Amino acid sequence: MHELSLAAAVVDEVSPLVGTDVVRSVTLRIGELAAVVPEALEFAFAVAAEGTALADAELLIDTVEGRARCDGCGREGPTGMPPVLWCEVCARPLVLLSGRELEIVRLVTDPAPGPAPAAPAASDKEHSPTRR
Ligand SMILES: [Zn+2]
Repeated sequence: MHELSLAAAVVDEVSPLVGTDVVRSVTLRIGELAAVVPEALEFAFAVAAEGTALADAELLIDTVEGRARCDGCGREGPTGMPPVLWCEVCARPLVLLSGRELEIVRLVTDPAPGPAPAAPAASDKEHSPTRR
């Protein structure tokens, strides 16, 4: 199952980055031609994230449209799904421009729960730039 190894790779990739922080959400960019079934990936992610900093993280998926160009006539457009990778005009194979993406693009984290180390008021301000 391709999605399970993908989910495990996401957990392996993210875990060292967040330290003791708790991951709220992970956003992935996935091309529609990457042969990933989002529902299967969400299920696999829940399994792979168990017991890690990503256990309660939400998995968000940005789908990237498959697009291709013909070097013969210069036409460019969506490949459709299932993809058509031949030019209708010149009958030449198309050059794939996008649609095979598989990348982590965003990570939202919270500081680890539990007693925070007591910090002097002055440095507390410096370390919490997002707090209003
Ligand atoms: Zn063409």
